[in-house]
Amino acid sequence: MHYRRFGQTELPLSVFSLGTMRCLDSPEILAQTVKTALEMGINHLETAPSYGKSEAYLGRVLPALPRESFYLTSKILPGQDLALTLSQSLDRLGLDYLDCLAIHGLNLPEHLDWVREAYPQLRRLRKEGRFRHLGFSSHGSLGLIETAVKTGFFSFINLHYYYLDQFLAPIIDLANRRDLGVFIISPADKGGQLHTPPEKLRRLCQPLDPLGMGYRFLLSDPRITTLSYGAAHPGELTPAGIWGDQTQSLNDEETEIFRRLETEMERRLGAEQCRQCQACLPCPEDINIPAILRLRNGAVAFDLTAFGQYRYQMLEQAGHWFPGRRGDRCADCGDCLPRCPCQLAIPDLLRDSHQRFQGPRRRRLWEI
Ligand code: SF4
Ligand code: SF4
Repeated sequence: MHYRRFGQTELPLSVFSLGTMRCLDSPEILAQTVKTALEMGINHLETAPSYGKSEAYLGRVLPALPRESFYLTSKILPGQDLALTLSQSLDRLGLDYLDCLAIHGLNLPEHLDWVREAYPQLRRLRKEGRFRHLGFSSHGSLGLIETAVKTGFFSFINLHYYYLDQFLAPIIDLANRRDLGVFIISPADKGGQLHTPPEKLRRLCQPLDPLGMGYRFLLSDPRITTLSYGAAHPGELTPAGIWGDQTQSLNDEETEIFRRLETEMERRLGAEQCRQCQACLPCPEDINIPAILRLRNGAVAFDLTAFGQYRYQMLEQAGHWFPGRRGDRCADCGDCLPRCPCQLAIPDLLRDSHQRFQGPRRRRLWEI
């Protein structure tokens, strides 16, 4: 297992972090999973009050471990009572302090307003030793995330950034310039359900598998500190052991894989490829055009239709955790058309996406 400095926190984190949102079958299974993860060299665990019994189960394991043998992140939602929520988390966990406290879902401008108001209290709690480092996750706009980073309040950031979704690339760059630790959320699942890939993607990624491709894309980037790894039981930790020491730059063979993927994207989508520039927004019908067309890119180029359905069906179900409306809401007003530098027939592509992805609506999971 390799380790990287978590930005200005100076914590030496393993490049995989154990996310505990899926490890909820029993306290015994979670205990075994934590033990195996620590033996593999994973030294960072991640939980949240909203992950079911995760904190309570961890509270049956962590107090018996040497405190210096792990780093722990938990979270707080904007608007929650800071002192109370943090105390309840620490009580459940049986610990005196968190290494990292993340504001969970700084998604809207009012959430940032809340942080500004709460910041004196956050500083006080940090000074009292209740937690050591403050960070945040966000599903908000690029502009909101940039503004939050630039407040200087935070020393780390949790991001959805993957080979198949590089929308937040400018934030990776900004976080690096500001020396923030970068924690990537859910690369195997939200990064394209790479644990159950379609045959075509499997073929294009040879000799790696798609999961390895996704991990190597992230791990070869020294600006990224650690990737969440949501094992449900010890047996699921094996790939973290395989990839956890593969942090070197891409070799020629791997570079060729990414070239092949890009070539296939160009070949299959041609002039229909959405370049994710966001220039089409805002849409008066509040359609999340870039997110929908990103899913379409993946479905057309790499057969990622099941993944597209999984994500698309969460639209209009998850509030500010996955903002915007579905493609069938397009009213053909034409506002977006002159703004698209690729001159895409956006309404047609949205209708096509809706046909590909529509289905029963899904409720969001906490790890969205
Ligand atoms: S044409 Fe459709 S997608 Fe484009 S701005 Fe109008 S409603 Fe939105
Ligand atoms: S402006 Fe065009 S290329 Fe850019 S995100 Fe919107 S649809 Fe995609």
